[in-house]
Amino acid sequence: MRHLLVVATQNPHKVTELRALFADLPVDLVTPVEVLGYSLDVVEDGATFEANAEKKARAVANATHAMTLADDSGLEVDALQGAPGVRSARYAGERATDADNNAALLSALGSRDPETAEDPSARFRCVLALIDPFTDGGAVHTVEGACEGAITRSARGTNGFGYDPLFLVAGLEKTMAELTEAEKNALSHRAKASQKMRLVLEKVLAARGEAVRKLDAP
Ligand code: IMP
Repeated sequence: MRHLLVVATQNPHKVTELRALFADLPVDLVTPVEVLGYSLDVVEDGATFEANAEKKARAVANATHAMTLADDSGLEVDALQGAPGVRSARYAGERATDADNNAALLSALGSRDPETAEDPSARFRCVLALIDPFTDGGAVHTVEGACEGAITRSARGTNGFGYDPLFLVAGLEKTMAELTEAEKNALSHRAKASQKMRLVLEKVLAARGEAVRKLDAP
């Protein structure tokens, strides 16, 4: 039996990555637009990734009555006291593009001496929140993943999205945008959160299967 899993996001890159990360589970990831016929705008005004992930999951689960997964993620740069953080998508303004945000990040870090300056340390964080209206009374389950690295002086690579071209992955000589999709999905913040979410999802799917079997029982 396969299950519909609505991904509470308007970011197609996240949907692509999450589809690959959960490809072997009996879930079909769809977007709120595909289910509702319209897009649902959720104001992301939480102080933490967790608060925003939960808010998005709750809003979409309430609207669709379907099992819902939300992803709230972003980049934390230590030299910028954790910025862009929860404002990663809007760092350069409300309607900022990835290029705008990348330019704003380089500008915030200022000029660096290529000979001496170390690349400032940073990490990607991802919180995934799952709600199944028919399991655990619709309780929310959240998990988190992080990926350590540093910010390069100039963009490199064309894969991925967001800050990937500026994010040098710890232990590699490559930015996240220089990795293939499979390589990113083996080590990213989203991959690490997905590994934890997989355990939650398997339990929720088992509970749903059990509930259906009871309905089918004579
Ligand atoms: P959200 O939609 O509020 O979770 O914002 C996520 C933002 O964080 C994106 O728009 C990107 O700027 C950044 N971000 C999150 N995950 C990634 C990633 O995997 N690569 C690059 N940037 C990311």
